[in-house]
Amino acid sequence: MPPRGIPAELVEYGAAALAAAMPTLSLGASDRPPNIVVIFADDLGYGDLGCFGAPLISTPHIDRLAAEGTRLVDFYVAPVCSPSRAQLLTGCYPPRVSCAEFPGRVFTARSHTGLHPDEVTLADLLKTRGYATICIGKWHLGHRPEFLPTRQGFDAYFGIPYSNDMKIDGKVPLMRNEEVIEQMEDQSPLTELYTDEAVRFIRQNAKRPFFLYLPHTMPHTPLSVSERFAGRSKRGLYGDVVECIDWSTGEILRELAAQGLERDTLVIFTSDNGPWLVRGENGGSAGPLRAGKCTTFEGGMRTPCIARWPGRIPAGRTCGEPCATLDFLPTFPRLAGAEPPGDRVIDGGDITDVLLGKPGAKNPRKAFYYYLGHRLEAVREGRWKYMFPRRTIDEYPYGFARMIEAGRLKDEPVPEALYDLQKDVGEKENLCDKHPEITARLRAQAEAFEAELKANIRPVGWVERT
Ligand code: MG
Repeated sequence: MPPRGIPAELVEYGAAALAAAMPTLSLGASDRPPNIVVIFADDLGYGDLGCFGAPLISTPHIDRLAAEGTRLVDFYVAPVCSPSRAQLLTGCYPPRVSCAEFPGRVFTARSHTGLHPDEVTLADLLKTRGYATICIGKWHLGHRPEFLPTRQGFDAYFGIPYSNDMKIDGKVPLMRNEEVIEQMEDQSPLTELYTDEAVRFIRQNAKRPFFLYLPHTMPHTPLSVSERFAGRSKRGLYGDVVECIDWSTGEILRELAAQGLERDTLVIFTSDNGPWLVRGENGGSAGPLRAGKCTTFEGGMRTPCIARWPGRIPAGRTCGEPCATLDFLPTFPRLAGAEPPGDRVIDGGDITDVLLGKPGAKNPRKAFYYYLGHRLEAVREGRWKYMFPRRTIDEYPYGFARMIEAGRLKDEPVPEALYDLQKDVGEKENLCDKHPEITARLRAQAEAFEAELKANIRPVGWVERT
């Protein structure tokens, strides 16, 4: 008989490897590898959740997740959609896997490119350990058959394969696995459809380990919400949409509890990039952070992150150790007894000890590099962030032409900068002159990293035009 809670097929799959992994994770005999649930909002800002200080948006379910888990307040993603997804699933900076087409474009409804099928994803690794895997929502790593989630380690897919504003004739395709099941014009039921699918998946796979990856389509514009959520929040349609995502998160938590899986499930909630500020009222808020989506300021790349795993991850804790979606691939598969691929460069670090709240635990990946497209713009190490010289328009890459015309912005060169994020999270005071040695060290470190990355770039996937 396999130990309670470990499915027979998993024991069969690699009992020896799993047993070997157990002592290091100090799992008891009755434990099973954790289910992994990653809820990934789109364009939700650092200041858009109650537990991160949102004044007008009510998110009781996500706040409960935070109360029962750890808030990661120095957590990084990539500054725009496709690169951010590539980073989460491969553990690599987006340009390393050639999924950093911005500036210029992300993958679109007409792209013939996508994440290369030879990349090893988080789903691929978990699948080797017997996990059921599903992607529900916005894939955005290529919509041609060769690039779909079903070819990247996911047993199943349900969702819109790219951004909801990439319409053709006013519609976006809703897909199940590799088939388009509907050309969608009205996106208002989308979050609820995703939620139903997620709840069903949890119910159907309650007896085996699973990986549920839920990259929401919202609150990316155009915003849309069903009647039951319309007018609910004090923050207009944007708030309604976020409150719908909060409801959705609550439904998922409820199903995990109903199946008795709370203690067997690591739940992560975060966002793919900062708020799309040029959308005005229809965009989110970065709270105290500077700028938003499409920039390498904190507002573009630091998003709210919550990790809950009752009994393992401390409850009610705030963690300021810098972590990133980069670190998921080196971390989560190990919890399941799988190793990240050893035949290629992986940029992330194993943050198990950080998540579990071990005293003094540090991310083994000491620095974080801020890429906008293929351009390295900044590096953070500890409290210090160095930014290369840039231009003013880099802070507003969308809509800047109109702002220049309106006289609200001048396109001027901006010198290099050094910020102390511990004291100045809003990146207001440039400390280059005060700390020339730190400035020089970080600049040299970033240049060396950039040279290494450029020497180790892997290709994007590409299919012939048909
Ligand atoms: Mg996004």
